[in-house]
Amino acid sequence: MRSQFDFDREWRMFVGGTFQEADGGERLDVEDPATGAAFATAPDGTVADVDAAVDAATRAADEWGWTDASDRAGMLFEVANRIEAHREEMVALETRENGKPLDQSDNDVVAAAETFRFYAGGADKFYSDTVEHSPEQVRQKVFEPYGVVGIVIPWNWPPMHTADFVAVALATGNTVVLKPAPETPLSSIRIAELAADVLPDGVLNVVTGGVDPGVRLTSHEGVDMLAFTGNDDTGEKVLEAAAGNITPAMMELGGKNPAIVFDDANMDRTVSGVVASTFYNSGQACSDAERILVHEDVYDEFTAALAEEVRSLTVDDGFDEASQIGPMATRAQVEKFDRYLDIAKDDGASVLARAEPPDDPEYADGHWVAPTILDDVLPESRFACEEVFGPIAGLIPFGDESEAIDIANGVDYGLTATIWTENVGRAHRVASRVEAGQVAVNGTGGGGLGLPFGGYKRSGVGRKKDFTETMREFSTMKAIRIDTSEETPSL
Ligand code: NAD
Repeated sequence: MRSQFDFDREWRMFVGGTFQEADGGERLDVEDPATGAAFATAPDGTVADVDAAVDAATRAADEWGWTDASDRAGMLFEVANRIEAHREEMVALETRENGKPLDQSDNDVVAAAETFRFYAGGADKFYSDTVEHSPEQVRQKVFEPYGVVGIVIPWNWPPMHTADFVAVALATGNTVVLKPAPETPLSSIRIAELAADVLPDGVLNVVTGGVDPGVRLTSHEGVDMLAFTGNDDTGEKVLEAAAGNITPAMMELGGKNPAIVFDDANMDRTVSGVVASTFYNSGQACSDAERILVHEDVYDEFTAALAEEVRSLTVDDGFDEASQIGPMATRAQVEKFDRYLDIAKDDGASVLARAEPPDDPEYADGHWVAPTILDDVLPESRFACEEVFGPIAGLIPFGDESEAIDIANGVDYGLTATIWTENVGRAHRVASRVEAGQVAVNGTGGGGLGLPFGGYKRSGVGRKKDFTETMREFSTMKAIRIDTSEETPSL
């Protein structure tokens, strides 16, 4: 056992306030990505489980929707407190089921608690408006919960993705059916366990399992809003399913994010920043860069420093304190990484530098790859246009600002972009013209809570993490006009 916590215990899905097995009793293995060994199992949910969860969420919706907002806030604050009180255990659980280094799991667990607190703090300050008031009439714009929100999430930030949509959905008065990824169901179950005696029965439901429950949830006629995080091909299917019921859907999808390095960048800061924004979360962050665009005047200097830093990275078991990059979360991710490495090489790319995974026999069946930087990548090649979602990025030289912007915008995605320059005018010009939902200048990643997060183009629809916009996205709007005049309406 590599941590003090033993996660080989009963894990059940949460439906209508009860922890239960899947209908039919099937279970799926949960693997430790570092070793490839199953360390726990979780219920393999079915269509019938989703139906039961949607029923439970529907029964709970009316009362929850009319619960005093400050009471809802109090419950969500308590969920945040409990996540925080179990921080060490939740961090170890995430590293065990996802593989990432402990400090990165810690960021995620802290973010999950903060997300519950963020939306709890807003639940009783999200006001409807009186648009006009006169002795003859009152015109109101009223925000109401949709009812039941169906949430489907991937495996790369299990606690934070659970919190991202669940917290805002509950804060706005919706009830929830959440389906986590089959590879990482335990963090979501654990949050449900911590919330179970805080929230009324049926307000939060968690159905674990694979594609079938996801398909059922996203096409269920009893679901009033969908919030999906995953890749854009699945996103297409989810939108088609949503269209069948005219269900509104927030879609947080993939990216092929550029890091743009100008010739006036602070080289030390930029090299470290590009490494961080390429390899954070083992390259399995939707905000990570997979294209590194470098001005031709500093190309040689930058790539030499980058190669040196990449070779020095520690790729190891997430439970090892020295680890900077863990294994891939899933076996399928390893296969995808290998496939795209071959595709890139076939298109003429070469390996500039790689960091070596551990060679200890204990890890022989783990989901390991060698984090890689590719040189000689053509902007229009498949590697440069399609998302890998792994620890790999390709270098692309450019000659001037407008060429950099054209290359950055020359893909179907538009999630994040990072710009490295000391010229504030250039930073602003490029930030304004780049097609991405989040732009960071001389820094990495998304903006964090309080700034909207979402994508242009195939990277998605809608914005999470904002307060006003996200609360609105999880609310439907009603116009109420009360006619108080004593005159009888006439034609
Ligand atoms: P995926 O789309 O294969 O799976 C995501 C979830 O959808 C899982 O729970 C899965 O079981 C479920 N699912 C699969 N098929 C389904 C279907 N037909 N109907 C309904 N649900 C279905 O995702 P993945 O490729 O394993 O995950 C990584 C992707 O997520 C990457 O593209 C990444 O960029 C993206 N992502 C985006 C964000 C964001 O905020 N924009 C954040 C994290 C990850």
